[in-house]
Amino acid sequence: MSKLIETIDLTKVYGEKETAVTALNSINTTFNQNQFTAIMGPSGSGKSTLLHCLAGLDKVSSGSILIKGVDLASLNDKQLTKMRRDSFGFIFQAFNLIPTLTAEENITLPSSVAGKKPEQDWVEKIINTMDIGDRLTHRPNELSGGQQQRVAAARAMASKPEVIFADEPSGNLDSKSSKELLVFMKSIVSELNQTIVMVTHDPYAASFAERVIMLKDGEIANDLDNPTQEEIVSQVTSLTDI
Ligand code: ADP
Ligand code: MG
Repeated sequence: MSKLIETIDLTKVYGEKETAVTALNSINTTFNQNQFTAIMGPSGSGKSTLLHCLAGLDKVSSGSILIKGVDLASLNDKQLTKMRRDSFGFIFQAFNLIPTLTAEENITLPSSVAGKKPEQDWVEKIINTMDIGDRLTHRPNELSGGQQQRVAAARAMASKPEVIFADEPSGNLDSKSSKELLVFMKSIVSELNQTIVMVTHDPYAASFAERVIMLKDGEIANDLDNPTQEEIVSQVTSLTDI
């Protein structure tokens, strides 16, 4: 598997002197292409900070992040914006769909804004995989939470990003919709070769990933390969107890 993202001694400190908080402490890891990784850990362990740094939404204090060998810190603001727009997709807890647009318009909007014509074959493939073909003319308020989040996921994928960053994507969904979304996220990795990095506090959601990284106090406490939900729960419990 080829390396997509590499972190080298990635460190993030908020504040200064006596108020300084080390959110990430010298993280060394890689994220491979076509891999579904979950990031877990107790509240305050650095999950969101790590996701934001990887996605170029926050600057590192020291160390570096390489995207296909390119150091994010070497990019100016314009280049970074272009990288985020062209190479990254985002799925957040709030779906962030535009209420006045149909599902289909929401999906193709980011490509249109970027001045690109979405590739019709690709968009159709995503729509089929996401199973939202019969909802395309509906507006967000005519869709269930699970359908809205699948539209948001389809939108994140429409521009063929190298990697999708997801922060608690199933956090607002009931258990049925949550399962639907996670099944589809898993399928876009296996069927459409997508790469996903997902922050979650939910062991059930994490069990859909092939790899689960556990953070504690800004460090990687555990890096699990294809763990079962039970293994995840026991690791989460042991981290929280200490
Ligand atoms: P998680 O997502 O795992 O709950 P975060 O990445 O949000 O953790 O936070 C990691 C640590 O960094 C926490 O101690 C948090 O209080 C601190 N932190 C996060 N964002 C900021 C900020 N903007 N300013 C100061 N401290 C922050
Ligand atoms: Mg967080």
